[in-house]
Amino acid sequence: MKGFSDRSFPKAILHFDGDSFFASVEQAMNYKLRGKPIVTGAERGAATALSIEAKRLGLNRGMSMKDIRAKCPEVIVVSSDYTSYSVYARRMYAIVRRYTSLVEEYSIDECFADITGLRPMYGMRYEEIALMIKSDLERSLGITFGVGLGPSKVVAKIGSKFRKPGGFTPIPAKEVQNFLKDIPVGNLWGVGFAQALKLQNLGIVTALDFAQKDEAWLRAHHIAKPYREIWYELRGGSARELATEHRGSTDIGSIIKTRTFSPPSPQRAFVLAQLSKNIERACFKARKHGVKTGAVGVMLKTQDFLYRNAEVPLPVPTNDPAYVLKHVQKHFDRMFVPNILYRATGISLRSIVGEKAATLDLFGETLKVEENSKLLDAVDGLNKRYGKETIGLALSLKAVSHHEPDRQRQNSRRTSFVPLPIEQRKKTIDLPFLGMAH
Ligand SMILES: [Mg+2]
Repeated sequence: MKGFSDRSFPKAILHFDGDSFFASVEQAMNYKLRGKPIVTGAERGAATALSIEAKRLGLNRGMSMKDIRAKCPEVIVVSSDYTSYSVYARRMYAIVRRYTSLVEEYSIDECFADITGLRPMYGMRYEEIALMIKSDLERSLGITFGVGLGPSKVVAKIGSKFRKPGGFTPIPAKEVQNFLKDIPVGNLWGVGFAQALKLQNLGIVTALDFAQKDEAWLRAHHIAKPYREIWYELRGGSARELATEHRGSTDIGSIIKTRTFSPPSPQRAFVLAQLSKNIERACFKARKHGVKTGAVGVMLKTQDFLYRNAEVPLPVPTNDPAYVLKHVQKHFDRMFVPNILYRATGISLRSIVGEKAATLDLFGETLKVEENSKLLDAVDGLNKRYGKETIGLALSLKAVSHHEPDRQRQNSRRTSFVPLPIEQRKKTIDLPFLGMAH
């Protein structure tokens, strides 16, 4: 690859943009959707994202689901799953942060990274560092990214859009203007409709027209500061810093599973089994996303809509349901009040971290938890093959048959499977379960 001199990138800013992000996440999570035309947004009746295959059929985001279905009946329409998209976004930020601490979490499918001055550390040129991060993202997430390298955010963003999908475009400071003649000024990042109209009235149609004006012209036409900054960056400078603070972890990245049951139940074993089922589902999702949780929230809801909540910190991050359940159970004993009717339980996995980010602790608890992960992989494989929840925690099976007589309470203390009705037994493989401590 042709190298650029130091003056090419007085600052080296990267912009990463996930291709067809929501649709790509759906395809990354479900191999059956790969290579197929996918549209997300079923719940709102309009397309939110289209897979590359759907775009190739001539579909676009402005179309209603009705029109999409009429035009291309073969399209697969799925509901949005923002929890999963958020998890993928967090994984994207975390991967880029392995290479530089200066990362701006710009949106659910985009981020900026500042790699200025990192060439000696990696022994690579900026283009090579960019490609290294790009391929790590694509390998780890199973999604392609458009990537731009430039001397500023505005230019990096032009680069990531330049070759879609999956392209990489480095734009050195001196060459910025070569990229601007086909970009309408209103398509520049940060130029809204009103400002685009104003600039057009001043005879500026393309980004290049704008870049070629001089400072006197900007002053004479009272161009406001944000647009002066864009102008400055189009000329190879850098006016905008990255906003590198982490976004709050509460708004994105928690995995929540709740379930209401009917009729409401006063039975301890049954309510705990319901909770256990939710823990399994949440942990299954965490494993699917390659993340772990360092703390969980537990919720019980009574017939009278009273809520009892507990926050349960975990000694080490995990996605093992048996481990989570072991810690949740102590709190459950305190939360559960006998002789009232419960109608729902819920679990939320908080402080989510990437699987690899979970560090070893001093007392080897991590290793103990890791031992189970091979078995969990096998469980996930079987469940995938024979249907969801073929294998589960013995305790959760209580949740399958509702309102057992109280004498069965004893059973909940056992680690073996509770007998199931025939039609469910068919699908159940009799593996002794995962070393639950009771
Ligand atoms: Mg995108």
